[in-house]
Amino acid sequence: MILAVSKLKNPSSPAGGYRGRFAPSPTGPLHAGSLVAALGSWLDARKNGGKWLLRIEDLDTPRCIPEASQQIQSQLLACGLSWDEEVIHQSQRNEAYLRALERLNGLECLYSCTCSRQMIANTLASLGIETPRNQEMVYPGTCRPTNLSRKSPESFGELQQAWRIALPSNCHIEFEDLALGPQSQNLSEEVGDFVLRRSDGLFTYQLAVVVDDAEQKITHVVRGQDLLSNTARQIYLQEVLGYKRPEYLHLPLVLDEHGEKLSKQTLATQINTQDEKCSLMELRKAAKHLGLKNLPDGENVTIAEWLLAATHAWRS
Ligand code: GLU
Ligand code: ZN
Repeated sequence: MILAVSKLKNPSSPAGGYRGRFAPSPTGPLHAGSLVAALGSWLDARKNGGKWLLRIEDLDTPRCIPEASQQIQSQLLACGLSWDEEVIHQSQRNEAYLRALERLNGLECLYSCTCSRQMIANTLASLGIETPRNQEMVYPGTCRPTNLSRKSPESFGELQQAWRIALPSNCHIEFEDLALGPQSQNLSEEVGDFVLRRSDGLFTYQLAVVVDDAEQKITHVVRGQDLLSNTARQIYLQEVLGYKRPEYLHLPLVLDEHGEKLSKQTLATQINTQDEKCSLMELRKAAKHLGLKNLPDGENVTIAEWLLAATHAWRS
């Protein structure tokens, strides 16, 4: 057992004050759903007199579109959602992720895994465990050694094997979501030892987001509810790496007419920011989705005026 994770309380915001972020994956331009996350996190930062950072999560390079990072930045600016500090690209930060992986290695909580998805599915089937569609398979621990040990750092260079974190048994995580209230997840039962580095050498979202949120001193993570089920894993990694836990606020998702989350895969159309009127219309739709009321609805309202009013209305 590494730590009594669930016993640790949320630390209060550090002295530096509120630091929020928007962390899109550049798999395409912003759509109605991603604008909701951008606007919600921007308003929360501004309302709290904080900083709002932009981080481009372009780790999964095969899925990224080269021009999307620039498109997203122009769309945000067209909507008046400007950021503080330099934009960070995860594709440039492999060294930081490797350092974190090496620290975890020093704590003797990593092991390598050569299971394919199919092998995991077969093992689960032979154990009589069914994974509902759309749900991640719980890793059954096939490659986990009985005694964990520190691996030679060179072994991280060997491809064709993934690196997983070994969870303590009954790893139960609890946290308070600022919008949704108390949340909990038993990682051992619901997730299993999860991957930090894939067999193709790419670091996973879970590791990268935790390292970046910590190094950028993020105090508040405001993002879509589709990411809620990742939060316990991220909190666990923060505890093991000795990072501060930020506050979490998960925003309502925008669904399409079939009740599916809007995404590149569902061919969500990009927001229209060709002029100020169009951008304002997109912002108004996003604000409605966030439940904001009594915003100026006149024809001649500028984006700046509207954003100011929205900031006042945000969670008041
Ligand atoms: N890059 C992730 C996404 O676009 C979001 C990461 C986060 O906000 O934690 O879905
Ligand atoms: Zn394995």
